[in-house]
Amino acid sequence: MTYAEIKGIVFDLDGTLYVCDRFAAEIQAAAYGYIAALKQVSSAEAGLIMAATRLRLTEESGTVQTISAVCTALGGNVPDLHRFFEQTLQPESYLVRDERVVRLLVRLAEKFSLAIYTNNNRVLTTRILKCLGLDGLVADIFTINDTWRGKPDEEMVHRVLGEIGLSPDEALFVGDRYDVDLRLPEQLGCPVYLSQNLGQLLRLEELLIPIPGQSPTFVGSSSA
Ligand SMILES: [Mg+2]
Repeated sequence: MTYAEIKGIVFDLDGTLYVCDRFAAEIQAAAYGYIAALKQVSSAEAGLIMAATRLRLTEESGTVQTISAVCTALGGNVPDLHRFFEQTLQPESYLVRDERVVRLLVRLAEKFSLAIYTNNNRVLTTRILKCLGLDGLVADIFTINDTWRGKPDEEMVHRVLGEIGLSPDEALFVGDRYDVDLRLPEQLGCPVYLSQNLGQLLRLEELLIPIPGQSPTFVGSSSA
């Protein structure tokens, strides 16, 4: 895998283009609320049921489980969960524009086609990007609304690559959860980069846009 082949970047959204523990906790709490209503239990009980289910599914599958997968296993459905998210979550209360991230995406957009592929829904993705000042910078946005199936999903990775018009070795996948965002693209031949904090995200610029006269340092794959 060489840096020179990369023509586009496919970013995860939550936990990748921003990191906000308080908003992540709000998303978790909203999921508890959805399961609480579904199962006619308290939110605290829903939290315990979801934690146990997540653990069981993780043990059975050997990989980390998403909120969508846990809710589905408990008899919920993903469209309803996301309708609930849209009604209850307020990203505007938590997320703020960070000029360093805006500048990063502006710089990257000069050289690469940028896409987002997220397990979040289209309405919240739009609102989150607006909060972050990133609306209009990303050409292609793929959300859970496209199939109502969450990542990891092989068919959807092929669809993302097809729609952005890149072969696997030309599309760098960037995400904060290796099992969810990166393992499958990597297996399909895409370079991947694990980004779990602002420093790692900002480092993409020096990795992908080398200083003239210096060779790029990107080696093509992050470790799990
Ligand atoms: Mg994420």
